[in-house]
Amino acid sequence: MSRKIVVVGGGFAGVWSVLAAARVKDMAGAAAQDMEITLVSPRPELHVRPRLHEEAPHRMSVPLGPLLDVAGARFVEGSVERILDDGAAVDVETASGEHVVLPCDRLVLTSGSRLHRPASLPGVVEYAYSVDQLEDAVALETHLKTLADQPDSRARNTVVVVGCGFTGIEVATELPHRLRTLFGPEADIRVVIVGNAEEVGPDIGPGPRPAIIEALDALGVQCVLGSAVVSVDANGVRTASGERIESHTVIWSGGMVASPLTRQLPAPIDRLGRLDVTQQLRVAGADRVFAAGDVARALTDAEGHHSLMSCQHAIVMGRFAGHNVAADLLGAPLLDYRQPFYATCLDLGEWGAVYTEGWEREVKLTQAEGKARKRLINTQWIYPPAANRADALAAGNPFI
Ligand SMILES: Cc1cc2nc3c(=O)[nH]c(=O)nc-3n(C[C@H](O)[C@H](O)[C@H](O)COP(=O)(O)OP(=O)(O)OC[C@H]3O[C@@H](n4cnc5c(N)ncnc54)[C@H](O)[C@@H]3O)c2cc1C
Repeated sequence: MSRKIVVVGGGFAGVWSVLAAARVKDMAGAAAQDMEITLVSPRPELHVRPRLHEEAPHRMSVPLGPLLDVAGARFVEGSVERILDDGAAVDVETASGEHVVLPCDRLVLTSGSRLHRPASLPGVVEYAYSVDQLEDAVALETHLKTLADQPDSRARNTVVVVGCGFTGIEVATELPHRLRTLFGPEADIRVVIVGNAEEVGPDIGPGPRPAIIEALDALGVQCVLGSAVVSVDANGVRTASGERIESHTVIWSGGMVASPLTRQLPAPIDRLGRLDVTQQLRVAGADRVFAAGDVARALTDAEGHHSLMSCQHAIVMGRFAGHNVAADLLGAPLLDYRQPFYATCLDLGEWGAVYTEGWEREVKLTQAEGKARKRLINTQWIYPPAANRADALAAGNPFI
C-alpha cells in the first residue's frame, strides 16, 4: 500500500507544494519509497495570473508535464468537486466528464481564488469582461480585436475598468498602449476607472499613491471615485451617482474570493473564504489537510501580518505546505511558516511600475527602474524552475 499525498490545484501554491513534497521524499530515501504525490488540476499547465492584464494572454501559461515527471509526481487532469470525509478522499470530475474518487492520506488544498462577480448587480455576469482567468483574458483580447474592425465611435474607444485596487490599476494603465496598438496611434481612446473608494488604490496605502496618480495622469487614465457601478449593459455602465458612461468594453475587477472548496472543510473561514491555518499550514480542525496560497490565511511574521492573495505568499506557503505534508506523513518534524519580507510591485503600463518594500509600502523604485524589477518578477521569479530533477527539488526548499 502506498502513502498518498494529493495536491488540489496547479497554480503557484500547488506547483511549489509538489516540488517541496518531492524534495522531502527524495531526502528520506528508502523510508519514503511508497510515498505517492499526485497533482489534480483542470489543465497540465500553470497559468501566470499576474500577467493576464498584458497583451497576448494566451502565452501566459507554462506546461507542467515535464516538471512533474522529473519531480516524480503524477498528474490527474480534472477538477475536484467534493472533498470527502474531511480530506480522506476527493471526488474528481475528469476532463472526459467521468468521476473518480482519489483516496488521500494527506491533502494539500491550493485551489486558489476567483474574481467575485456580484450576481445581484444587473449585467455584470452577462456583459463584463475580466482578466481573472486565462480564458477570461483571452476573451477580452478577442473582443478588443473585434472592436478594431468596427467604426470609430466614443463607445468603441472607451473602456471602463470597475475597481480601483491592484488589479484594476494594472489593467487600466496597460490599456492605453493596447488600444492604440489596435485602434491606431491617432484614435481618441478613453480609459476610465470607476471605484467606490474615495481614493485610488484604497488598500495600497499613502506611500505609493503619488506614483500611481502621476502614472494615471501621464497615461490619460481618468478616475470616477466614490461612486459604485450599479448596472452594466452591452453599451456601458451606470454609477450610483447617476452618471452614464457609454462603452463597449467593461472590465470587472472588483476583488477575489477563495475557491469554494474551502467551504467543504469543517474549519473557520474569513470574509474572503480563506481557511484559518496553523503556523505549520495545517487547516484548523481538519488534521490531514494543509492549505496554501489564496485559499489560506496564515500569519507571516511575529508582528501579526497575515498572508495576502498574492504570488509571493502563494509560492512560499506552497513550499512550506509541501514540506510539511510530506514530513507529517513520515513522522518527521514540521516547519513553522515564516515570511517576514514583504514587497509589492505594481505595473503602471508605459509609465513604468512602482516597487515598494515593507508592510508600510515604502517606495524604493519607480518608472523605468520599477518596470525593470516588475519584468524580473513577472518573467523569471514567479516562473517554475527548469524541468530537471536537481533544479526542481532545489526550488522546493522552504529556505531557498
Ligand atoms: C490580473 C492579475 C494580476 C495579479 N497581479 C499580481 C501581482 O502583481 N503580484 C502578486 O503577488 N499577485 C498578483 N495577482 C494574484 C495572484 O495571481 C494570485 O494571488 C496567485 O495566483 C495565487 O496563487 P494560488 O496558487 O493560490 O492560486 P491560483 O494561481 O489561482 O491557482 C489555483 C489553481 O487551482 C486550480 N483549481 C481551482 N479549482 C480547482 C478544483 N476544484 N480542482 C482542481 N483544481 C482547481 C486552478 O485551475 C489553478 O490551476 C494577480 C492576479 C490577477 C488576476
